[in-house]
Amino acid sequence: PIPTAQAESTVQTTCAYCGVGCGIKATVNTEERKVLIEGDETHPANLGRLCSKGLALGETLVDTGRLLHPKVHGEQTSWNHALQTVAQGFVDTIVEHGPDSVAFYVSGQLLTEDYYLANKLMKGFIGSGNIDTNSRLCMSSSVAGHKRAFGSDTVPGCYTDLEQADMIVLTGSNLAWCHPVLFQRIKAAKQQRPHMKVVVIDPRRTDTCDIADLHLPIHPGTDVALFNGLLSYLAQHNAIDEDFVQAHTEHFTEALVAAMEDAGQRPVLAEQLGVADYQLETFFQWYAQTEKTVTVYSQGVNQSTAGTDKVNAIINCHLATGRIGRPGMGPFSVTGQPNAMGGREVGGLANTLAAHMEFDHPEHWQLVRDFWKADNLATRPGLKAVDMFDAVASGKIKAIWIMATNPVMSLPNADKVKQALKDCPLVVVSDCIEDTDTTRLADVLLPAAGWAEKSGTVTNSERRISRQRALLPPLGEARPDWWIIAAVAKQMGYGRAFDYASEAEVFSEYARLTATDNNGTRDLDLGHYSHLTLNDYDSLPPRQWPLPTKAPLPDGDQRLFGDGVFFTPSGRGRFVSVRYRAPATQVDSHYPLTLNTGRIRDQWHSMTRTGLASRLCGHLPEPFISIHPKDAGRYQLKDGALADVTSRQGQARVRVQLTDQVNLGEVFMPMHWNDVHASRARVAALVGEYVDPTSGQPENKYTPVQVHPWYEQ
Ligand code: SF4
Repeated sequence: PIPTAQAESTVQTTCAYCGVGCGIKATVNTEERKVLIEGDETHPANLGRLCSKGLALGETLVDTGRLLHPKVHGEQTSWNHALQTVAQGFVDTIVEHGPDSVAFYVSGQLLTEDYYLANKLMKGFIGSGNIDTNSRLCMSSSVAGHKRAFGSDTVPGCYTDLEQADMIVLTGSNLAWCHPVLFQRIKAAKQQRPHMKVVVIDPRRTDTCDIADLHLPIHPGTDVALFNGLLSYLAQHNAIDEDFVQAHTEHFTEALVAAMEDAGQRPVLAEQLGVADYQLETFFQWYAQTEKTVTVYSQGVNQSTAGTDKVNAIINCHLATGRIGRPGMGPFSVTGQPNAMGGREVGGLANTLAAHMEFDHPEHWQLVRDFWKADNLATRPGLKAVDMFDAVASGKIKAIWIMATNPVMSLPNADKVKQALKDCPLVVVSDCIEDTDTTRLADVLLPAAGWAEKSGTVTNSERRISRQRALLPPLGEARPDWWIIAAVAKQMGYGRAFDYASEAEVFSEYARLTATDNNGTRDLDLGHYSHLTLNDYDSLPPRQWPLPTKAPLPDGDQRLFGDGVFFTPSGRGRFVSVRYRAPATQVDSHYPLTLNTGRIRDQWHSMTRTGLASRLCGHLPEPFISIHPKDAGRYQLKDGALADVTSRQGQARVRVQLTDQVNLGEVFMPMHWNDVHASRARVAALVGEYVDPTSGQPENKYTPVQVHPWYEQ
């Protein structure tokens, strides 16, 4: 059964887009299929605020472009036939080539219940670790950094810290466009508390700089050197919290020695970073003097071959000053997607087993095996996103199921991914959109319910689990993703383990798995939710985990680690010794400019939904490349003209936008456009397959390119 709203009712749900996870009050007219969207004043993430994308959600609930029926080889078919085709295809491939010859590539757009079942099917019953997610491209470096420093993937703080801080350092984050409601909260707090300082660290002068007291336009990729310089400065200026370091951390001395060696002398460091020495001094001084400091970081830190080291360089500074888990202070990774957090919680990353439990922990493995009654539980991690599609390209993976994502437009070296899927014997895509770069290559298309038709839970960047509630009946024959996954599992012969009457049953089972107490940590504990009734689930208020069984704490924990107890074996926070490493590839005379990529204010991912709202398309209507006027002169590029951008991997054609918001030698392109919108507009076709060695996250922020006026080609 799919719960839907009654005619003219008001429903509380959660925004479909970014990781802020704003609460929405939707007034629904079921008969006319109209939904009025407002911010939910009672939701702690946004307190009634919404950004342009959230406000326009009602305009995207149309049937334009929707995938309405199952299709096999382009022909409409019954659900039964489509499910049988998928199940038989996977079973035959596994029988002939083994479980590692198949894979699932999933998405931060899925709800936690969907994610949980996809992970259970692949790791528990197919017996392979080959399930990975597009969140690999978004925040896997933060996951790896958290695990190294805290012993678990735990965000220590909460959004309220942003309003209580006396200084906010925004690094690698255009918060004004990518997490607009958090930006609004900081802006409002700064107006109320004028002494609050904001430092923006970003090679570009973005709109986020509108509230900056200091902007450090560092050279792309130099974050580790910057934060190592900061750690050295803190040590040299008696700003280390010796008591905290002594009592609650380990490996400080090694990390400090590495930082001091790496950062070297100050004027040299400033030159390496590309900023003035007085700017660096100002930042270091402010940081040393301001106890209540939050460092917010996002894709500019994560999407790098040194992403995990960057995360740890930031965390090192917070551990050294004891500024973690207390009001108004802490390192804070903000996630891109609406349920990137839920996905990493259930185990949607190939290197995690399930529910924050790990493959290399025998007790975890046994616990999950017993809990799922899964004799075939995978024994080792699977392939991470880039390696997974490499294995598709080489023919090692022969059947892949892609859920709610578009890897042909988003994965690095996207033309190679496109060819790999063309050659793959079985490509299954479940999506709510019919025509994407990826659905075009599917053998089987499964129509998934859209945002307004789905019911389940999502977790935002501050560990807050919120309900997403269905507003409208699904269009055509669309079905919720959890239902589709369970139906395929049943067809594959795993019926007893996938017999759920509702998404509420899936969530309760997942909560019981987190609550088993034996996973050796006390981080992801949803024991409080282990035995929910349907009514309980339906009325679930937004709450932050952990929510342990034994403590009836209805509000959850706002902060962790304030008591100095971490999830590492020693219980101490871990310093990690890191040193600057240059990006994987460098500019040369042939590819003299470095390409940075990112989002724009009014679009989301591949624009399949935001592209339907005309008011969102007026902001920046075409794919473009931002370039400094001096570089434009050098390469004969004119403002508004078309240009061809070429890298060692591929090509794109976009419009030129002259701006001094980018540095000389650097260019910027948004990620949203793809081949369905315009020929050769995929920025991912330019990006190389270089990944962080620890997290597997690709280097989307640094690609050497050349740019030419298109008419010269
Ligand atoms: Fe939605 Fe993010 Fe905007 Fe909030 S800030 S309304 S979650 S897109």
